[in-house]
Amino acid sequence: MPPHPTAAASVPGGEPVAASEEESPAARRLRLLSLHLLQPSAPAAAHASSPSSSLVPAACAGRRVVEGGGDVAAALKAYLRGRHRAAQMRLYDFFCARPDLQTPVEMTTAAHRELCFRQLRALVRDAGVRPLTLMANDPAEYFAVMEAAGGADISLGVKLGVQYSLWGGSVINLGTKKHRDKYFDGIDNLDYPGCFAMTELHHGSNVQALQTTATFDPVTDEFIINTPNDGAIKWWIGNAAVHGKFATVFARLILPLQGKGGEPADMGIHAFIVPIRDLETHAVLPGIEINDCGHKIGLNGVDNGALRFRSVRIPRDNLLNRFGDVSRDGKYTSSLPTINKRFAATLGELVGGRVGIAFCSVGVLKVAVTIAVRYALLRHQFGPPKQPEISVLDYQSHQHKLMPMLASSYAFHFATVQLVDKYSEMKKTNDEDLIADVHVLSSGLKAYITSYTAKSISICREACGGHGYAAVNRFGSLRNDHDIFQTFEGDNTVLLQQVAGDLLKQYQEKFKGGTLSVTWNYLRDSMGTYLSQPNPVTARWEGEDHLRDPNFQLDAFRVNKLSPQYRTSRLLHSVAARLQKHSKTLGGFGAWNRCLNHLLTLAESHIESVILAQFIESVKSCPDEKTREVLKLVCDLYALDRIWKDIGTYRNVDYVAPNKAKAIHKLTDYLSYQVRLVAKELVDAFDLPDLIIRAPIGMQSEAYAQYTQYVGF
Ligand SMILES: Cc1cc2nc3c(=O)[nH]c(=O)nc-3n(C[C@H](O)[C@H](O)[C@H](O)COP(=O)(O)OP(=O)(O)OC[C@H]3O[C@@H](n4cnc5c(N)ncnc54)[C@H](O)[C@@H]3O)c2cc1C
Repeated sequence: MPPHPTAAASVPGGEPVAASEEESPAARRLRLLSLHLLQPSAPAAAHASSPSSSLVPAACAGRRVVEGGGDVAAALKAYLRGRHRAAQMRLYDFFCARPDLQTPVEMTTAAHRELCFRQLRALVRDAGVRPLTLMANDPAEYFAVMEAAGGADISLGVKLGVQYSLWGGSVINLGTKKHRDKYFDGIDNLDYPGCFAMTELHHGSNVQALQTTATFDPVTDEFIINTPNDGAIKWWIGNAAVHGKFATVFARLILPLQGKGGEPADMGIHAFIVPIRDLETHAVLPGIEINDCGHKIGLNGVDNGALRFRSVRIPRDNLLNRFGDVSRDGKYTSSLPTINKRFAATLGELVGGRVGIAFCSVGVLKVAVTIAVRYALLRHQFGPPKQPEISVLDYQSHQHKLMPMLASSYAFHFATVQLVDKYSEMKKTNDEDLIADVHVLSSGLKAYITSYTAKSISICREACGGHGYAAVNRFGSLRNDHDIFQTFEGDNTVLLQQVAGDLLKQYQEKFKGGTLSVTWNYLRDSMGTYLSQPNPVTARWEGEDHLRDPNFQLDAFRVNKLSPQYRTSRLLHSVAARLQKHSKTLGGFGAWNRCLNHLLTLAESHIESVILAQFIESVKSCPDEKTREVLKLVCDLYALDRIWKDIGTYRNVDYVAPNKAKAIHKLTDYLSYQVRLVAKELVDAFDLPDLIIRAPIGMQSEAYAQYTQYVGF
């Protein structure tokens, strides 16, 4: 497409045109645009009471007046930097020093798969990283390494996740000592590349309906792994098409003659270690058929394959027997009484994969936002009459696109750091409340963050104009590689239902006199009461101090003692009542389906409130005053933008009066503008080396020069 000829020719340098009766529609647009480029007005109360008034700009929207911007970036960087930053920096340095391991912009699927395997091998064997040891001893460092690997190439992060979170994680978490003794080192040092074979052609999310069987043969003391029909072919299995030598295969455990009347007994889904290729020759083993799932939309460094088993025999010891075992004489034992409990325990142990995906998705969001913000600062277009062009980040529309996204990156950063801490604590203590808490939190955050990141990458691409479309500037690969984060490790729509289900369970238990788990304590305040009318006085408060008060923001997201009607608690009360009503006529499943969208809204609302609560805590805990001030600004933008995006819901029940809704809108624009003034520092504080950013337009300096050089000038 040729460049658009109209606006570019006429706006720069033009005097602000006074309105006149003969004014044409085009002239009117230009006059409004030129006015719009001038200083945006803050809400009336803002200048007087803003805690961040030092950030208020002077006259021109294009001028940054942040005192000591570099100090702010350094202090923010120090605050964001986790305990494991050094491990990440070592990895970045390692990849920097090895051009042979860097992923080029264009390559074939076969070459990408080989490169990705070489990258993983080099990371383990040359850089000396032992991911499985890290996962077992310090999960937070493991996730930091995974994020850094994903920074080098998202395919590498996922390949690492398949090998260690999925294949390794299933062995150490679902197996017992004999499995750890036999497989741990080989998995850790990559002698035993492996797969996690759960999904089948006909069943993905519905794991309980898998059809692959593992039938015990008491004569030979073996299990026979079988694919009973084409629908049961294991599909999408990472590492299977080319590199894997083993697979953890999820199959129904069948015990012959042990069911009612001598029928075979189906003991439910269990996990089995199945060798799939010869350790020496790498030839596919007899009875196993492996085909390649082929070229994908993204993540082509990962070799996904499909596996069919024709009565493949494995020793009884290959059952990963932590939650259920079969004795030599074919008797089943388990500490857990029902198939459902065993299934929940089995899947519960795999939650680490989901934690890793949520954590890495924030890493991808940071990269995309950094490129878009740096480019928006670099790119100059139009400007006030007879004055230099201004950076496109000075356009209100651009601030509206990117600043809430930048604020969300910070919000998600703190939320996932907390998630990783909770996960590490859970692994140490095995505390039951914490296990339930981490299960729901990881499902909710994974779903919410990956959906948000997927949408945001497209917005960032568009915000970089045509240059965002060049493959070298990364948005295509970021978008395509990340897109599947919404589906694997649990489809987002399915995961959000788990969050809603947990909230409802707690709601019911509360009425039976039970207690609530730690994270959801806030719901307690609302549960003893029925929905009351919104407070007509607070519904009209519109002062900046009130809108920027964390109490108001948290109350709006969830509930407080004075006004126990908003938002999560209201959704919870109302969906519980609807479910009860519909279940009488439609049954449990029908009622759930009738209320499904309501349930998803409830889950998202809950997760947003958890994210905000953590952000507010992280602002409070920041030791440096100036940094705290900047973070408070970003946190306020996150909160008010979310409220504004859902303003219809708040207005519908008069939680906010029309004047308050307008004040929220105005303040959101104003905060976006203020965050723009520290946008450079905020993205610099992510501390992502140029090697990780890679997009020439997103480099810390000389971006245009790097871009022209790339093209060949
Ligand atoms: C690149 C890639 C790598 C993968 N790696 C592996 C791997 O290594 N090992 C492995 O075992 N699997 C792997 N998978 C499979 C992945 O885990 C599944 O795709 C995922 O679990 C979703 O299952 P599905 O594709 O069958 O989708 P489905 O469950 O069939 O979902 C299809 C659609 O229906 C909707 N839906 C389904 N159920 C419900 C419901 N109850 N309520 C509302 N909506 C619903 C979903 O939201 C979705 O939009 C991989 C997939 C891909 C694409």
